[in-house]
Amino acid sequence: MSQDRPAHGHGHHGRVECAMCLKEIPLSAAFTPEGGDYVGHFCGHACYEAFQRMRQDEEANED
Ligand SMILES: [Zn+2]
Repeated sequence: MSQDRPAHGHGHHGRVECAMCLKEIPLSAAFTPEGGDYVGHFCGHACYEAFQRMRQDEEANED
């Protein structure tokens, strides 16, 4: 273990993972919802909507 490589996080500057499909995307191309609680970066609005639906389903299922 001589190399100082972070095991976690962003390997490159300005690149993020889509919170829904985990595809790596440039930060400049990421869709980031504004306002409310922070939920992450998304490769597109479709992934953001899918993520929101997933969250709502989880909230609806809470016991
Ligand atoms: Zn995505």
